[in-house]
Amino acid sequence: MHRDTRIVHDDIAVPEGFASLSRPTHRASTILSPNAEAFSRRREDFFHGYWYGLSGTPTHYALMGRLAELEGASHCMLAPSGLGAINLVNQAFLRAGDHVLVTDSAYGPTRSNLVALMGRYGIEAEFYDPGIGAGIAALLRPATRLVWLESPGSLTMEVQDLPAIAAAAHAHGALVAIDNTWATPVHCAALALGADFSVQALTKYIGGHADLLMGSVCVRDVALYEQLKLSADWLGNNVSPDDCSQVLKGLLTLGVRLERHERNALRVAQWLQQQPAVAEVLYPALPGSAGHALWQRDFTGSSGLLSIVLRTESWAQTCAFVDRLQCFAIGASWGGPQSLVGVYRNAGERAVPGRHAARPLVRLSIGLESADDLIDDLARALSVLAP
Ligand SMILES: *Cc1c(COP(=O)(O)O)cnc(C)c1O
Repeated sequence: MHRDTRIVHDDIAVPEGFASLSRPTHRASTILSPNAEAFSRRREDFFHGYWYGLSGTPTHYALMGRLAELEGASHCMLAPSGLGAINLVNQAFLRAGDHVLVTDSAYGPTRSNLVALMGRYGIEAEFYDPGIGAGIAALLRPATRLVWLESPGSLTMEVQDLPAIAAAAHAHGALVAIDNTWATPVHCAALALGADFSVQALTKYIGGHADLLMGSVCVRDVALYEQLKLSADWLGNNVSPDDCSQVLKGLLTLGVRLERHERNALRVAQWLQQQPAVAEVLYPALPGSAGHALWQRDFTGSSGLLSIVLRTESWAQTCAFVDRLQCFAIGASWGGPQSLVGVYRNAGERAVPGRHAARPLVRLSIGLESADDLIDDLARALSVLAP
């Protein structure tokens, strides 16, 4: 054999006598067939097997299996981002003429995907009040194909009555999808509560280290999975096996990280609630807060993301407070070890009039630091505000 051939041909053998606690990462575009006949039939096991890198490697299937187990699902699909997972549900199940109901508290890009992108394909999105509960029945039309929930809602943190909304939607023949990123499957069993699709931005708590983007959709019905899988193939969606390895690693510490996020966030929220400069703390785990009763009924714990409304409604004062923080880096996204702060000029702006007016809002992603340091930092920054 010539050297040029030897350079190219590497023997891929399973290392004998080697066992470890870490999972190997399988990278592949080509997946080999044992013979010509098998090659020509390689797509026959399209939904569950290996036939091309796009369909996934053992690393992808390992992550999908672990996420499905956590969500109480039968199947899971991965997407290149949380938004990509939301888009995958929309692309897979909506078609021209369909009507989709989406909570008015949804993540901004979810709204844009439905209104701007799906709108181009003849799909009509209508926003509803997140507190609607069983009242959603009045909005369901013959053309309603899908109802989107996000609970708690982005920025404003309304907890939704998932079982009531799902029952009404199902009685009408509509599918129900929920963005379950805040609670993670550890704290909200969204499929058991009635959702057909539980979507995660793995980017947040499950990846957990602010260093990758990925999303997942979990389902209990193999027919739904197959439709997602087909659409992901048509779209050419894939995620990197290296990123899957990172998420698999994140999963190992998810439980302990969430415990600390929750404990820290609860302490910070209770402290903030007592500050005269703070008008409202939006965090459903806080006793007495809006949504607390529903949260207690449907969730087993909370994460570290909360919002505050300052007593001042001045944008300049709000920015002065945020700029004074030192332990909280200013940045979008959340769920990583380091605390983050985001500031929004017109949070609570609504298509349907609701509990929240459009006003400045500060969102804190409480990290894994000492809660004492976070509280000291917030106290120092709040002191810039006039009493
Ligand atoms: C961040 C976020 C997403 C999107 O996740 P990406 O991976 O950043 O696309 C979806 N839903 C919620 C509630 C989010 O906060």
